[in-house]
Amino acid sequence: MTENHPLVLIIEDEAPLRRYLRATLQSFGYRVEEAATGEDGRSLLLQLSPDVVLLDLGLPDGDGLELAQEIRGWSRVPIIIVSARGKEEDKIAALDLGADDYLTKPFGSGELLARIRVALRHSAESAGAATEPVVEIGPLRMDFASREVFLDGLLVHLSPNEYGLLAVLVRHAGKVLTHKQLLHDVWGGVPAAQPTYLRVYMASLRKKLEPDPARPRLLITEPGVGYRLKA
Ligand code: CA
Repeated sequence: MTENHPLVLIIEDEAPLRRYLRATLQSFGYRVEEAATGEDGRSLLLQLSPDVVLLDLGLPDGDGLELAQEIRGWSRVPIIIVSARGKEEDKIAALDLGADDYLTKPFGSGELLARIRVALRHSAESAGAATEPVVEIGPLRMDFASREVFLDGLLVHLSPNEYGLLAVLVRHAGKVLTHKQLLHDVWGGVPAAQPTYLRVYMASLRKKLEPDPARPRLLITEPGVGYRLKA
């Protein structure tokens, strides 16, 4: 394989899961390196400069959360947390510390590959070119220059708060955003901004953008964590 194939570093102590990840990723053209401990993961990360890190939070020699925070201190590499269901607080903490996304064990290869593609795309975008003035995602078209939003070609009237929330989700399409990240990005840390704001504006966005607001196809709730605009 050539240098053009993205390199994924897996930091995970469960050998069967590492084997599954390696086999899946290699069959889709990724290069893979593995570490079973945080210590080995840290040194491989420094040696290899991978394109994406898959990081388990429960490592034998320490807390994956601390490792995520430490990595974020000196690297912009996308970090995807791999964690068991029921560890939502740990996932939120990791995302708020700068991890990019998470996978809940057990997960399928489609979900794994989708998360990695999104992480690679966002890291390429933040590394270089100016962001696109017009973004189209499924039936949604967002024009950041004119601040207009179209659904299936029809103009949708949004309030400034609805527009602000949608803009942040569209800029991070495919990626989970925690309640805290959304409140910060949309309302800029206004002290009065509350998680209830999010529920209210998400509900009104869904009414305007989803044919069936109770079964959203674009504006997805990540239970206990936040929201994701389906890419
Ligand atoms: Ca583990």
